[in-house]
Amino acid sequence: MSLKKTSPNDAIKKIKKSGTGLRTDYLVVGAGLAGCTISERIASQLGKKVLLVEKRGHLGGNAFDYENEHGILVQKYGPHIFHTNSERVWNYLSRFTGWNGYVHRVLAMVNGKLVHLPLNLETMERLYDRSFTALEMEAFLEQRREKIAKPENARDVVVSAAGTELYELFFRNYSKKQWGLYPEELGAEVTSRLPLRFDRDTRYFTDRFQGLPDAGYTRMFERMLETGNIEILLNTDYRKILNETAYEKLIFTGPIDYFFDHMYGKLPYRSLDFEFKTLDVERFQESAVVNFPNEHEYTRITEFKHFYFQENRKTTICYEYPRADGDPFYPFPNPACREIYQKYRKEAEKLKNVFFLGRLAEYMYLNMDQVVEKALNLACLLAEEPDISGSHRTPGFFKDNISVMEK
Ligand SMILES: Cc1cc2nc3c(=O)[nH]c(=O)nc-3n(C[C@H](O)[C@H](O)[C@H](O)COP(=O)(O)OP(=O)(O)OC[C@H]3O[C@@H](n4cnc5c(N)ncnc54)[C@H](O)[C@@H]3O)c2cc1C
Repeated sequence: MSLKKTSPNDAIKKIKKSGTGLRTDYLVVGAGLAGCTISERIASQLGKKVLLVEKRGHLGGNAFDYENEHGILVQKYGPHIFHTNSERVWNYLSRFTGWNGYVHRVLAMVNGKLVHLPLNLETMERLYDRSFTALEMEAFLEQRREKIAKPENARDVVVSAAGTELYELFFRNYSKKQWGLYPEELGAEVTSRLPLRFDRDTRYFTDRFQGLPDAGYTRMFERMLETGNIEILLNTDYRKILNETAYEKLIFTGPIDYFFDHMYGKLPYRSLDFEFKTLDVERFQESAVVNFPNEHEYTRITEFKHFYFQENRKTTICYEYPRADGDPFYPFPNPACREIYQKYRKEAEKLKNVFFLGRLAEYMYLNMDQVVEKALNLACLLAEEPDISGSHRTPGFFKDNISVMEK
């Protein structure tokens, strides 16, 4: 089965011709992971018609990938590695893709040395040119930890776990680049689970299941939407067709403040610029991702060939520059922003038959598996089945924190 794509012009023609506009059971806004998962469930499980509207020219939201002119599979919005401990989520996505077995490892350039993240025995040994056992690492940190009874910000959390030196080497400047703020200006929850490992596990993620879709994310999304009941409208802001569309329910995965016309003000996001380069060398760096906590304006370089073990005479790399303005990428982790979001959320809860799903609609950093889990839960709710892990409205704001280092 192929995808049912409609062009914006065809949609307008259809609206004019029918005189009654577009008709669907479910209008889904946004074709990222949230929109694709919920559309697939509605179409295949509820047997309902879906109109999936996406303002960009492609499926997949920020997980979109494509083969570039050199035959290298690149991820347009930065490196995306799938990882989860949820068998339910893994089994669900495995219906649409195989996995390539990639295990993510991240290096950081610190004091002129490439060291593993998260901090573990290997990191300590490379950094301090001496051997460490787990007990020695614990004793080393214990001597340096600042005793802070009640950590009040992200700096407090890090220095009370690892001391000032490691804080300055890995966190302080990185945070300033990533967020435009030093850790003392960020809430303690940002680093509430500082990843320190007292072993030699150099994997970035320790989840049971990890990898990348074997034919890429975009192919996986296409397969999810090939059910026949889903019509896709790309390059279209949903507002262009909203008044002409009759639907029973609306699932919104775009920014919640945009939905409500920014009535309580704009929700702030940190944005990113991606600079791609293709070089005439087979290999540029040791691992797919290298972070630069201290030097340069960019935070990290990704070399895409590592993800798919691709052989090629050339290599494509991408520099990531955090920005104050641009596409919304990271919700801002501080209490003032959360307060604004709560106002929108109250408005959202007043609406019947409108559901808010995903990272922009819930103003929350979510890993991909969390988005799928939420979409599956919402599908259960819509099917009036008991929800497996609580309603999609479960307060979960910043429940799953990320560290300043983790993205
Ligand atoms: C740089 C970066 C790296 C990441 N790396 C990882 C990783 O390694 N592993 C991991 O698990 N997660 C990672 N994530 C998180 C991952 O990107 C998200 O979990 C996932 O993209 C969320 O899917 P979503 O559908 O909620 O949002 P999105 O992917 O943002 O999709 C929302 C869609 O809605 C569309 N839209 C918005 N407004 C409108 C409108 N008005 N009309 C129509 N369409 C609209 C947008 O164009 C977009 O396509 C990363 C995120 C970033 C920013």
